[in-house]
Amino acid sequence: MTKAAEAESKWVAVSGKRGGAPFVLLSDHAGQVIPSHLQDLGLSAAERARHIGWDIGIDGVGRILSGLLECVLIEQVCSRLVIDCNRAPGHRTSVVTVSDGTLVPGNQNLSPAQRKEREETILHPYHDRITRELDARQAAALPSVIVALHSFTPEMNGVKRPWHAGLLHNHDSRLAHIMIALLREEGLTVGDNEPYALTDTSDYTVPKHGEQRSLPYIELEIRQDLITSPQGQLEWAQRLARLLPQAWSIFCQKYGGETASACEQVS
Ligand SMILES: [Zn+2]
Repeated sequence: MTKAAEAESKWVAVSGKRGGAPFVLLSDHAGQVIPSHLQDLGLSAAERARHIGWDIGIDGVGRILSGLLECVLIEQVCSRLVIDCNRAPGHRTSVVTVSDGTLVPGNQNLSPAQRKEREETILHPYHDRITRELDARQAAALPSVIVALHSFTPEMNGVKRPWHAGLLHNHDSRLAHIMIALLREEGLTVGDNEPYALTDTSDYTVPKHGEQRSLPYIELEIRQDLITSPQGQLEWAQRLARLLPQAWSIFCQKYGGETASACEQVS
């Protein structure tokens, strides 16, 4: 096994199947595993399990959703505290030294070689796997709609966040706007580029795999207290399994002419 393949098998989890729905679910922050040689980054189990370590609840939502939609899910199971897979290599928040008030001892004064090792064993294998999936789908003339899954902490820096969910978008807002409307029809409070705005440099996964390939996408953030329990995860997965195909159908009706090849195959 090559070094890259070995790294991928350790930290990248792929489930679901190709050939079902057009959605490709991506979960950058699905796990809280820390490679043993990093000695838990010097953090207690309680700190590692906080929202700073991973996107609480999104693993359950993603896996149930992938089963309901019969679509592919690619997850990074390594903690975002080791390296954030939604940041470009070298980004100032790629490897954080402090996160939401917690100092991360194992991330202080990293050498360029230590940084590179994390990029080569965790960041790149994950994104290479996504690239391979999208290339294979393109070669098989299968449509791809990127769905980047995240969750956000209900309170940050003492400020409570009112949204149940948020949609982040940048150059291509078409599918995001449709999804915002559908979620609001459910009576939910939905952020429009809240709690974060998507830019070319704030995020990495959607700019790299969605916008650079001109694929339709959404980046969804769900508030963590709503999906901490298995029941909440099931509820959100079922909601998304109902609304995503609706959103895609509306998208194809509105914009089918521009993305005809992608829309035809799922009608
Ligand atoms: Zn996230």
